[in-house]
Amino acid sequence: MRFPLALTAKIAAHIVGKKLRGVEKFATVLQLEPLHTCNLTCTGCGRIREYSTSLKDMMSLQDCLDAATECGAPMVSICGGEPLIYPHIEALVEGLLSQKRIVYLCTNATAMRRKMREFLAAALQKDPARAEPALAELRAQELVSDRDLEDIRRGPKDRGKPVIAPSRWMYWNVHLDGLERTHDLIVERDGVFKEAVLAIRMAKLLGYQVATNTTVYRETDPDELEAMFTFLSSLGVDGHTISPGYEYDAAKKDMVRRLGVAPETFFLTRKMTVEKFAKAEEWGRKFPIFGTPVYLEFLAGKRDLSCSAWAIPTRNVRGWKGPCYLMTDAHHGSYTELLEKTRWEQYGVTRGEARDPRCENCMVHCGYEPTASLGIDALPGDLWKTLRFNFGPRPERLSADHVEAFNGASSGNAAERTPALSGPP
Ligand code: SF4
Ligand code: SF4
Repeated sequence: MRFPLALTAKIAAHIVGKKLRGVEKFATVLQLEPLHTCNLTCTGCGRIREYSTSLKDMMSLQDCLDAATECGAPMVSICGGEPLIYPHIEALVEGLLSQKRIVYLCTNATAMRRKMREFLAAALQKDPARAEPALAELRAQELVSDRDLEDIRRGPKDRGKPVIAPSRWMYWNVHLDGLERTHDLIVERDGVFKEAVLAIRMAKLLGYQVATNTTVYRETDPDELEAMFTFLSSLGVDGHTISPGYEYDAAKKDMVRRLGVAPETFFLTRKMTVEKFAKAEEWGRKFPIFGTPVYLEFLAGKRDLSCSAWAIPTRNVRGWKGPCYLMTDAHHGSYTELLEKTRWEQYGVTRGEARDPRCENCMVHCGYEPTASLGIDALPGDLWKTLRFNFGPRPERLSADHVEAFNGASSGNAAERTPALSGPP
């Protein structure tokens, strides 16, 4: 199976339960942003720009847990900013797991190995016989240094603090937008791709589930994406989400001001998205892409879908963000208020007509994947297709001998600051 049975069953039970009770709009995934602070400044990131005046603010742990309870989504994606900077991140993951939710911990991976070393320090105290072989293997594969081992052996700094341990209900969700050169270019820092790969290898060795999320921009080469998925498959990554980039107003302004780059050289129009995703269905068969084949058909331009942004709401320091993860017209005090006060009929694209001009080029995962998974706009055969996609055999693990993943700083080909983004559209 592409996604573990217990997790699939949990999500399916939630959807069926809501439908049987006649609930028209409900949350399937909560995008929880406890803070917007980040240690990177990725070129296309709307978050750190839109919320630049509240980067120091953060949600309390209780507010985060209450948000999950209030909307009732079976899955919570903890994003941001960089969630591993959030001081209560361990308690938040623990709290959401004890609420029996599926947790996606999104990260740029720069602090992921540190968090796993903290887990190892606690694990070593609890069960040395089990932890020692893992430590030996990590050292042999140079995923920890001798100094790291010394720190781990000293034990947890705060023995009362929870750690992020492997769980079948949790995924690390690592942000990766390409192979080394492209990824480091987009995140505007050399070495991030290499660290992410080390973190993924360490996580898989320790038994964590690891997914990746990729945003596709105008400069993204579909062949490189295939090479990246092949490389990630060879590392044993469990699954991927993929979405076209959205033209955040704040990110566009930042590009012009800070980088002197025309936004149209970076973001995709709808037509370009369809061209970039021409092989999306083939990718779905070849790689463990999470979600539905219907959304992949939509990305490949084979069908129309309406937007269901209400199913993947965003809660952050200012409240429930409406109408969606991408656009901000208001922040609401509750999920119910977001549902009731948003004029949903004014957003999205229907038969090629944008109801709001800002939606015109949007085909993003958080707006359209729920439409597919909830069976809205369903065509005959969709249900069977989706069941076969998700319950059929997992795509096989691939060899990446032919993939030159380290084609940036590691090979002496460092990512210069945004060269690929300059020049006329
Ligand atoms: S790592 Fe994520 S939150 Fe941080 S700048 Fe990049 S896209 Fe934005
Ligand atoms: S189409 Fe939906 S998800 Fe996209 S910007 Fe519009 S409201 Fe948001």
